[in-house]
Amino acid sequence: VTVELIDTHCHLDFDRYDEDIEEVLTRAEAAGVRRMMTIGCAQAPGDVDSAIRIARARPERIRATVGVHPHDAEKSDAALLAEVERLASDPLVLAIGEMGLDFYYDNSPREAQREAFRAQIAIARRVKKPIVVHTRAAPEETLEILREEDAPDVGGIIHCFSEDAAFASAALDLGFVASFSGLVTFSKNVDGIRDAAAKQPDHAILVETDAPYLSPHPFRGKRNEPAHVKHTAACIAELRGVSFEELAELTTRNAERILGWAE
Ligand SMILES: [Zn+2]
Ligand SMILES: [Zn+2]
Repeated sequence: VTVELIDTHCHLDFDRYDEDIEEVLTRAEAAGVRRMMTIGCAQAPGDVDSAIRIARARPERIRATVGVHPHDAEKSDAALLAEVERLASDPLVLAIGEMGLDFYYDNSPREAQREAFRAQIAIARRVKKPIVVHTRAAPEETLEILREEDAPDVGGIIHCFSEDAAFASAALDLGFVASFSGLVTFSKNVDGIRDAAAKQPDHAILVETDAPYLSPHPFRGKRNEPAHVKHTAACIAELRGVSFEELAELTTRNAERILGWAE
């Protein structure tokens, strides 16, 4: 029996993979991670397709998103958003984002973050694709914007989940599932996240790396890569009292259904 995992969130277009992307993909396959979704973080109209290009070269294994990260929200002018919308219809694009609010780093002014988030939800509703939400230190306002912009019409993923079970439940009420990263494997300040991972209903749980960031234990501090999602999955299986195989099967079926990625 082959155990398959899908890494629902990685950044393979980053230059940290320029030298060895083929080895990274080979190691992923060996770890059972045959498929992955690489996330677009556009900063200018010319790079909106950077994740799509990675997927286009390997359509049997990789899908993409297009979007503007909250860190770059102040760059999301009409021209950039128009290009996101144009490429959102590409058949290799399964979701729009990552988009959202990051009030921890505040790399872009909050008002720009709110505007870019709202504009991208509107795009997703027009192209009828789910969204990938990045939220940090802004739980209430994230839920409020999702509600106000009718994001439940498309649903999607709260990625790199870093809140607690109450937030996961409120997000799920709006049609948003939780994607857990290597954070759950850390030893400090993750009780709320681990509790959420334990309690999340079967149909609403995904796993991701957010590579190159957030390597799970025992690779913490090193460059992350999709193969490592198996450590996160193993940790969550233990928290939920199920086998690794069951957790892998569950999260893979969920990713296929939520992203519309049939084999
Ligand atoms: Zn993110
Ligand atoms: Zn990301």
